[in-house]
Amino acid sequence: MRETEIHDVIVVGSGAAGAMAALRAAELGLSVLVVEKAHKYGGTSATSGGVMWIPNHQLTPNDDSREHALEYLGQLIDVPVQRDRLEAYVDQAPQMIRFLKSLGVPLVPSAWTDYFPHLPGARADRSIVCDTFDGRELGAKFTLMREQYTRFKLLNRYSMDLPEFFSISTRGKGWIQAFLKILWRYWSDLGTRALTKRDRRFTNGTALMGPLYKRIFAHGVEVRLETRLDELVLEQGEVVGVTVSNFGRRYTIRARHGVVLCAGGFEWNQELRDRFLPVPGLTRHSSSPEDANRGETLIAGMKIGAATEHTDDAWWIPTMHMPMPRASNFEEIHQAAFDVGRPHSVCVNRNGDRFVDEACGYDEFGEAMVADQLKTGANTPCWLVFDATFRKNYTAGGFMPTLIMPDLVIPPDWWDHYIFRAPTIEGLAAKIHVPVDALRRTIGNMNVYAQTGVDPQFGRGGNDYDRMFGDPAVSPNPCLGAIDTPPYYAVPINLGDLGTKGGLKADARARVIDSSGQPIPKLYVAGNNSGSPFGNRYPGAGGTIGPAMTFAFVAINDIAERSRARAASA
Ligand SMILES: Cc1cc2nc3c(=O)[nH]c(=O)nc-3n(C[C@H](O)[C@H](O)[C@H](O)COP(=O)(O)OP(=O)(O)OC[C@H]3O[C@@H](n4cnc5c(N)ncnc54)[C@H](O)[C@@H]3O)c2cc1C
Repeated sequence: MRETEIHDVIVVGSGAAGAMAALRAAELGLSVLVVEKAHKYGGTSATSGGVMWIPNHQLTPNDDSREHALEYLGQLIDVPVQRDRLEAYVDQAPQMIRFLKSLGVPLVPSAWTDYFPHLPGARADRSIVCDTFDGRELGAKFTLMREQYTRFKLLNRYSMDLPEFFSISTRGKGWIQAFLKILWRYWSDLGTRALTKRDRRFTNGTALMGPLYKRIFAHGVEVRLETRLDELVLEQGEVVGVTVSNFGRRYTIRARHGVVLCAGGFEWNQELRDRFLPVPGLTRHSSSPEDANRGETLIAGMKIGAATEHTDDAWWIPTMHMPMPRASNFEEIHQAAFDVGRPHSVCVNRNGDRFVDEACGYDEFGEAMVADQLKTGANTPCWLVFDATFRKNYTAGGFMPTLIMPDLVIPPDWWDHYIFRAPTIEGLAAKIHVPVDALRRTIGNMNVYAQTGVDPQFGRGGNDYDRMFGDPAVSPNPCLGAIDTPPYYAVPINLGDLGTKGGLKADARARVIDSSGQPIPKLYVAGNNSGSPFGNRYPGAGGTIGPAMTFAFVAINDIAERSRARAASA
């Protein structure tokens, strides 16, 4: 009978936080059920880059330390955060990584510059990815994991890892070999071709989730899909289970030792966006999976008295949308995070003015859009303006360089809607309704900065992070190139997100706390379902998945310790 169903732990949501909670619980001998609202498991995490930001990870010998990490975070964060939770993150993240390593998860340190490289304590070696994973190792569950978005696939079909993506999209060294190798690997895999169009080569977020789920399924853990949490069940002040809906049936499942909420943020709930975010933006500009994370668990937690924190912020990223290939009436969201800082381009608000160092981290870019919108009312969307040299060499959201996607193949009805083009700056300004004098002046300034290599307004290209995505062939500053080769183009850039930063308030042990600061017994939270330990800041690549997995690990350790203590006293 469903009503009498009981597990030691119920995990709600199957993204990075949920997967870590399920895996750690199973490894510690607890019985665990994962309930997942969507028709596929893996959450936003499977669609992501799969990068984890883990300071002091010690996978390779280096001189990073707890103190360096805390110094960096201390300089960075400029809203009040819980110091003990921040310290718990810095202390526990390396433990979580050690746990993954002990299970044989193939972890690879990756050379990403922290997003605020000028601050003391910043480094370029704190991000970790997983090596590619063979999806067929998941057996029958192979095709049930969420996949990488079409936009991250070569020619909308073939998996690419991040180095391949950067090499091919910028036609960097070795891109042709990488391109051909990807095609060969896919078409020579005859066994999988007979089964599905899906590439068995899991990269990025799926490469992270693959090894976790392989081990979760090996423990016999059930991931119950199409099962949405509606309510938390509270008895005598403690959380004893969840009420879920599954294909229209509503039933209760009991949890002996704890419920761990890992159901992501509220980015797909316009009502909550309007209520919490100072510039709410639109759900449809979010780049997380459509309609998945609607904040039901945030609402359920608030209903039983949980406190919240940092709900006024999101993990921002500039996005644009374009019709989806071969799908009627659908548009796909494209991230433009690295495009907005490439040379021969500039971003302007609708007054024709710049508002940010365009090559900064994507979250910082979004924060600047929010600030500019609040100040001028002329942002969200803003414009990415570029010339023919940019168009030839780089991507603009979903628009690939002309060698792969010449202007001629862009459908006629996309012009002046998804992308604008004019032979002169004046003509472009008229088309996008930006004051011509302002746009001319802004571009004139950028052309001077391209010559001197110095952007006195915002310092574009002035630090290691900016230059990581510049073009090394452009000098003196790889992020600044003259915007002087017609025709001129513009693409509208929206205030997109990767999820929201705030949620239920948790303590350093990942326990949900109420408005009086007391933990709600047996209720835990991790990932975007909780307030970020970093407050309003995104410290480096992997800054959301790192804490999501760490606090899921912490939550289960706490549950296991409590259950052991209870067993001992019994
Ligand atoms: C394209 C892209 C690339 C990204 N790259 C990175 C990166 O490399 N590194 C990084 O740190 N961050 C990255 N991010 C952000 C990151 O993916 C998310 O912040 C992170 O995955 C959140 O993990 P989570 O476990 O909290 O939530 P999710 O992975 O979103 O999982 C939440 C799950 O809960 C389910 N759920 C929601 N409501 C309910 C309910 N009521 N009942 C049951 N289940 C429910 C959802 O369906 C979902 O499966 C990226 C995001 C995107 C979109």
